[in-house]
Amino acid sequence: MGQVHNGHRWRKLVTELCPPGSWCEIEECWAPSREIQYGLRPRHPLGPSLDHIVEVWQGGAEYDPRNLRPSHLRCNVIKSNQLRAAARADAVQPRRQGRARAAAMGTSGRRRRSSVALD
Ligand SMILES: [Zn+2]
Repeated sequence: MGQVHNGHRWRKLVTELCPPGSWCEIEECWAPSREIQYGLRPRHPLGPSLDHIVEVWQGGAEYDPRNLRPSHLRCNVIKSNQLRAAARADAVQPRRQGRARAAAMGTSGRRRRSSVALD
């Protein structure tokens, strides 16, 4: 099933389960305040979202209110990224790739001009 929750059914759940005045229930909440912000642009990191207590890819129910709790969008994303990374680290070897890729990006392109102009 798709991981991108933007259908009508999902939006309705968000409105019902994460109404204005909700607080982020993710234990590690990474936002400055647990209060969820409303009226911001769509998909703002501090805006409303629903966290799957058991992630869908770990067998949690996607649309079951008992498996959902209010959260900041950003906290939701961070949490699922961390869980995925942990799952990957378990499955494979310690994570090295991220760094290698970042280093490669840093050195690619755009740099050439800085040396002395040829003449
Ligand atoms: Zn949060």
